[in-house]
Amino acid sequence: MPLLELEGVTAFYGPIQVLDGVSLTVPEGGAVGILGANGAGKTTTLRSISGTVRARGKITFDGKSIRGLRPDKVAAMGIAHVPEGRGTLGDLTVRENLRVGAYLRKDRKGVTHDIDYCLDLFPQLQDRIRSNASALSGGEQQMLAVGRAIMAKPRLMLLDEASLGLAPSTAKDVYEAIGRLRRESGIAMVVVEQNANLAFTLVDSATVLETGRNALTGTSAELKGMDEIRRAYLGG
Ligand code: ATP
Repeated sequence: MPLLELEGVTAFYGPIQVLDGVSLTVPEGGAVGILGANGAGKTTTLRSISGTVRARGKITFDGKSIRGLRPDKVAAMGIAHVPEGRGTLGDLTVRENLRVGAYLRKDRKGVTHDIDYCLDLFPQLQDRIRSNASALSGGEQQMLAVGRAIMAKPRLMLLDEASLGLAPSTAKDVYEAIGRLRRESGIAMVVVEQNANLAFTLVDSATVLETGRNALTGTSAELKGMDEIRRAYLGG
């Protein structure tokens, strides 16, 4: 049984249909990419999983339907959403933001341990631990957003455009750290990326969305070998 399964998912913003039968399968511990142009429905797919957009169709997590659940219930089941734009709390410090990520946890020792883990994964945050999130660089805010999701101890992480607005070398650092997190934690991931080269460093397989539909789905190796993927997403 896959950890996450979407089948025939549709979603609307008012009268406008944005998802038109999206499917996605994420095995336990797997990482699956969602690629596609601006407006293809990538963010909306993540939002339909985390309960921040109303959707129809099948959305199951660990064999149970989560469609229609409120975002806090979805989070409590073990799904952490790192939204586009990062969603860190600007008036709180780095440490406070990390603690907020752990608000549902009761294991204080575990929380302290995981804060240390986040700071080991993102050493730049260690230097900024007492800074307000609003004072961080874009890359540091992205690291903090991932850190906050780690603090929830999820089984599945939804990552939306973690490279957006970052210098290429910073984006590469962020993806390397997420790759390490994946290897060490076994957290499954759904990775939305415009930058397919980066996505392929992390994911085992991916689907390409076009106007709210799966246009192509395959392993990373299969997709990287396709001319249309190379032309449209890999710059060559
Ligand atoms: P991007 O990389 O630009 O975020 P995306 O593939 O993630 O693209 P979505 O954000 O899911 O695409 O948006 C899909 C479509 O829905 C787009 O046409 C977008 O303009 C529209 N849309 C997104 N959010 C809303 C909203 N809150 N109200 C109305 N339309 C929306």
